[in-house]
Amino acid sequence: MRILVCAKQVPDTNEVKIDPKTGTMIREGVPSILNPDDANALEAALVIKDENPGTEVIVITMGPPQASEMLRECLAMGADEAYLLSDRAFGGADTWATSATLAAGIKNVKKIDLILAGRQAIDGDTAQVGSQIAQRLKMPVVTYVEDIKIEDKKAIVHRQMEDGYEVIEVQMPCLLTCVKELNEPRYMSIGGIMDAYEQTITTWNHEDIGLSPEACGLNASPTQVFRSFSPPAKGVGEMITGNTVNEIAGTLVSKLKEKHII
Ligand SMILES: Cc1cc2nc3c(=O)[nH]c(=O)nc-3n(C[C@H](O)[C@H](O)[C@H](O)COP(=O)(O)OP(=O)(O)OC[C@H]3O[C@@H](n4cnc5c(N)ncnc54)[C@H](O)[C@@H]3O)c2cc1C
Repeated sequence: MRILVCAKQVPDTNEVKIDPKTGTMIREGVPSILNPDDANALEAALVIKDENPGTEVIVITMGPPQASEMLRECLAMGADEAYLLSDRAFGGADTWATSATLAAGIKNVKKIDLILAGRQAIDGDTAQVGSQIAQRLKMPVVTYVEDIKIEDKKAIVHRQMEDGYEVIEVQMPCLLTCVKELNEPRYMSIGGIMDAYEQTITTWNHEDIGLSPEACGLNASPTQVFRSFSPPAKGVGEMITGNTVNEIAGTLVSKLKEKHII
């Protein structure tokens, strides 16, 4: 079986800061990491590989050359091959253009039985790319996957819901987007880290994956970010005091009623 994992390098922060003067994201001093949901996707692929000898795990990313560091981390965790889609023409991509590039890259990789992606990336936060790739590759997709079992040519998955889960059987090849409840990603091994630096990362530009410059990046993005800004700070909190627990609770309840919260 050949499993492909879509992994994105993201800034290590849930609190992306915006420069108020320029309106752009402040990336200086923010380390880059493997997107957390993608680490769960990779772990799921590695577990399937552990249980099914002969399985190959391939990782693909679209990003700048420094994204290769994140790919080495994936190799050190146990992935077999890594592909970097990197080209100036890919810059400024929205989710539509990102998925077009990733789908073209995936088509260029040898036959794949299963594609795993994260549910969402912690920077863009749209949760659109996985489903768009599936649609472009004409594959079934299941999102919010928190459990995976492979039986013959089928994946039997639990899809997370607000109040439970659905059990879905899906024919492979298919694409699954993974959530953090799926597993606990493993650490890189020392041997894995050493080996990862010996391995080749295949880098492809737009020509390598058969896309014209008009079909990727900003040129192929139907949306454009018009303005970015930090949300206004919340008002200062109020500490409720009193001499007894009952008094404090009473004041709290009346304040909540005043604001029509209860
Ligand atoms: C309206 C809009 C305009 C944008 N304009 C720009 C711009 O001008 N310049 C710019 O740099 N960015 C821009 N972006 C951000 C860019 O679109 C996203 O970073 C990218 O499309 C991925 O979307 P996401 O981060 O929301 O990923 P999600 O859809 O949340 O990611 C889901 C999963 O898809 C996979 N995935 C996503 N991206 C990649 C990737 N690059 N490589 C491998 N796997 C991946 C991962 O498995 C990930 O967990 C824009 C975004 C939006 C919404």
